[in-house]
Amino acid sequence: MEYDEQNVFSKILRGEIPINSVYEDEYALAFEDINPQAPVHLLVIPKGSYVSLDDFTMEASEKEVAGFLFAVGHVARQAGLSGSGYRILANHGTDANQEVPHFHVHIVGGRNVGKMISLKDK
Ligand code: AMP
Repeated sequence: MEYDEQNVFSKILRGEIPINSVYEDEYALAFEDINPQAPVHLLVIPKGSYVSLDDFTMEASEKEVAGFLFAVGHVARQAGLSGSGYRILANHGTDANQEVPHFHVHIVGGRNVGKMISLKDK
């Protein structure tokens, strides 16, 4: 899938859309989700132009993959979630209902987030 430079997270990386940023380094940017599903709902995105995890793990360098994952762990710790726990998730493609075609990991916590995401039919 071709990367769309006009997707909302690409605009965020270019500074065209405001965010509540919580962390940034050379590999990743983390910010609050605009429509939080839990008391803490953060998004971590790579700095590079990758559509999803599928694209990221095929095209990104080992440094980018490692740097990104370190950032996810750091952001969760920084948010104070290590003790109480949290869930990370990443949607890829149609069946996962991925909305924004720039790879991102959700970090949700701050309350018990249940056993697992609902897999029931709509
Ligand atoms: P996904 O369904 O995994 O693609 O999730 C996309 C997420 O991006 C959703 O949870 C949205 O609430 C979130 N989102 C969309 N636009 C923005 C924005 N401008 N700032 C922060 N989060 C956003």
